[in-house]
Amino acid sequence: MAVDPDCIFCKIVAGELPSRRVDEDERTIAFMDISPATRGHALVIPRAHARDLMEVDPEDLRAAAVAAKRLAERMLRRLGADGVNLINSCGAEAWQTVFHFHIHVIPRYAGDPLKLPWVPAPGRPDQIAQAARELQGP
Ligand code: AMP
Ligand code: ZN
Repeated sequence: MAVDPDCIFCKIVAGELPSRRVDEDERTIAFMDISPATRGHALVIPRAHARDLMEVDPEDLRAAAVAAKRLAERMLRRLGADGVNLINSCGAEAWQTVFHFHIHVIPRYAGDPLKLPWVPAPGRPDQIAQAARELQGP
């Protein structure tokens, strides 16, 4: 499997960097974003390193899309979200900052103030952990 030793998301896959995992399957993992745009914001990534949408293996892309749907359903059911944004940024000019393909799964709440692009700011670890507990498990 492709691994980039300098990639922070590869380190999360390997367990070398901490993350709050909320979902995983053979091809993907999902974990909480450390700077959540809204309560419950998570990222789905393929286990295999690929820089972006142009380079990701089509099977990994399919698996990541299905995993994003699985998480979105949990956000609606468990977090009380009213909608979900799936966002992928491909290239620095399109706001990509971490160059390991990922899909943002961002729960949306009626009347929430989120505007895109959001300005990332570190979330409160206790609040991220609580949302993760609500999203974990099938
Ligand atoms: P993008 O700007 O689309 O490349 O998104 C990268 C996302 O990764 C941002 O929303 C960051 O907050 C998030 N992020 C960066 N480092 C970590 C980390 N160690 N754990 C969780 N999320 C991270
Ligand atoms: Zn990587």
